Amino acid sequence: MNKCDYYQVLGVSRQASVEIIKKAYREKAHQYHPDKNAGDRSAEEKFKEIAEAYEVLSDPHKRAEYDRFGHRSGFAGQGYQNYGTDFGDIFSDIFEDIFEWQRSSSGATQRGSDLKYSLEISLEEAAGGSQTKIKVPRQEVCSACGGNGARDGVHISTCHACGGRGSVRYGSGLLGVQAECRTCRGTGTIIKEHCKSCKGKGSVRAEKLIMVKIPAGVSHGTRLKLSGEGDAGVNEGQSGDLLVIIKVRPHPIFKREGDDVICEAPVSFVKAALGGEVKIPTLDGASRIKLPPGTQSGRIFRMKGKGIPRLNGRGRGDQLVKVLLEVPTGLSGEQRKLLEEFAELSGEQISETQKGVLEKIKDLFST
Ligand SMILES: [Zn+2]
Ligand SMILES: [Zn+2]
Repeated sequence: MNKCDYYQVLGVSRQASVEIIKKAYREKAHQYHPDKNAGDRSAEEKFKEIAEAYEVLSDPHKRAEYDRFGHRSGFAGQGYQNYGTDFGDIFSDIFEDIFEWQRSSSGATQRGSDLKYSLEISLEEAAGGSQTKIKVPRQEVCSACGGNGARDGVHISTCHACGGRGSVRYGSGLLGVQAECRTCRGTGTIIKEHCKSCKGKGSVRAEKLIMVKIPAGVSHGTRLKLSGEGDAGVNEGQSGDLLVIIKVRPHPIFKREGDDVICEAPVSFVKAALGGEVKIPTLDGASRIKLPPGTQSGRIFRMKGKGIPRLNGRGRGDQLVKVLLEVPTGLSGEQRKLLEEFAELSGEQISETQKGVLEKIKDLFST
């Protein structure tokens, strides 16, 4: 499924101010709010889309990045789990080297590029936190020359044109100009023979294993910044940063909504009628809930503190369990007889066949 353009989602122009975006969001969110459109799945999808678009466009940093890279910019609505959308498609390239590494045209010091890495984790890992090693291809300081680009790091001499200062003065007196030395491009040194490993660049492409600590409670779209783990700088410039973007895989049982997890529990109609205990899977392993007699299908039970830990370290969300009644199939003769007796005791007529279901509904509407 292709994602819609965030500006189109909110119905604003690309030049819209923050105020206009805020106003458009309020109006749209009001219109498509799930409370007002109960059971309307398309409204629910629209509402999520609106929230996601607002989350990005209301943040100047995210908006700038979105303007530049579109949906490939690497974030998704953090509070919303768009399990329906195909993130696999958007993030098919696990590694996005967004900035092409470029050798500076001048000899000046240059900071290394920032890198992005999409890290897919399970819901359990997001809830409990974890540590994992990732393999990041990046520019690293060349070990053969130590980064200066000269063969063995020693085939280097002081620039004769500028005497090692890196700059020369053209003209004299008040009209004189200080400019970067063209011979050494401002470095003050001349490489007599280039390093064979990096061909004089001072850095090489290499895969580096980096340990990532995932704090408990992260959500889909959370960005972890690893300072200095991006590309190496040029001419002893600072290294860039590595941004690890968390992608949480859809879970077969649980859905996440904020810090709560939601699951459905199939329960036999007998147990629902009589009441009893039901085994429920949780993120911490199996647990139990007690159903009161006469539990209806669709009823939601809240298991306090069984959800996702809050990122700020204060407590946990809850687990919401939705009861789904199971109607038995393939009844034996005896089971059938007992149910018919039950129906008779309840005053329900089972063998009534004169009127079809459709007719009964029509009757209901005509009265
Ligand atoms: Zn080298
Ligand atoms: Zn020079």
